[in-house]
Amino acid sequence: MNALSRRQFLTLLGLGCSGTVVASSCSGLLGLLILAQQNQEDAVPQMVTITATPLPSVTPQPIAYPLMIPREAWGALTPNHNAENENGFYDPTTNPEGWRVYDVPLEQAYQTVVIHHSVIMENNDDVATLLEIQQAHRNDRGWADVGYHYFVGREGIVYEGRDIRVRGTHTAGFNTGSVGVCLLGDYTSQLPTERQIRGAEGLINWLAQRLELTHLAAHNMFNTTTLCPGGNLLPYLGMFAANANLMLGTDGYIPPPEQVPTQEQSACRCCQCDKNAMT
Ligand SMILES: [Zn+2]
Repeated sequence: MNALSRRQFLTLLGLGCSGTVVASSCSGLLGLLILAQQNQEDAVPQMVTITATPLPSVTPQPIAYPLMIPREAWGALTPNHNAENENGFYDPTTNPEGWRVYDVPLEQAYQTVVIHHSVIMENNDDVATLLEIQQAHRNDRGWADVGYHYFVGREGIVYEGRDIRVRGTHTAGFNTGSVGVCLLGDYTSQLPTERQIRGAEGLINWLAQRLELTHLAAHNMFNTTTLCPGGNLLPYLGMFAANANLMLGTDGYIPPPEQVPTQEQSACRCCQCDKNAMT
């Protein structure tokens, strides 16, 4: 076959000598100019029609709610609103650390899913481990409830933790807008099971879609002194993020208004420093 002339080449690209585009689509049919005789300089283009392949739907299919053990079923206690370190209900000025029920749609409240490991693992028994975590969070740390929103057991079973409508306590200083997902086990020494990875993956995919999340992060991406979620779990986080169409990292975090010093507060702090220095 002879090489195409410049004119033939431009015609194939849809650019005639006048520079107009000649490929077009009409009522689901694609009109396309082709050359009938490629080896003739003055060949007359002929119109043929090719049925266009329908484009795939751009509407994502809803991901099914993952099978989940409700908190009551594993023995979770009613939140304690007299807890020492999560005392009473949230108020941005008088009690910013309080029990915060999001007052906006959850898609607006959340941006990031944060991945943790429990470290605690009681005899390879999920429920015994959950009860131990509950004890540690309520009694030792003084929180109103378990800090994580979801747990994933060694067999991939998902357990409900803190009510998703309530801010978690799992990533110091970065809890607002962060879903806490904890994989049961110690991944500084253990390896996650295949079923556990698949269970976590299903949960994260659903959360990402349901809450319209933008990011996934490891706990130690926010709090860099912790080993959580363990070096044996960290290599899976890129896959979790990619499969859920999330970005990996902490850039999605949006500090609540009470964490962002206003100009007035900043000025006050400066004034106070100056005042202290003077006295
Ligand atoms: Zn953690």
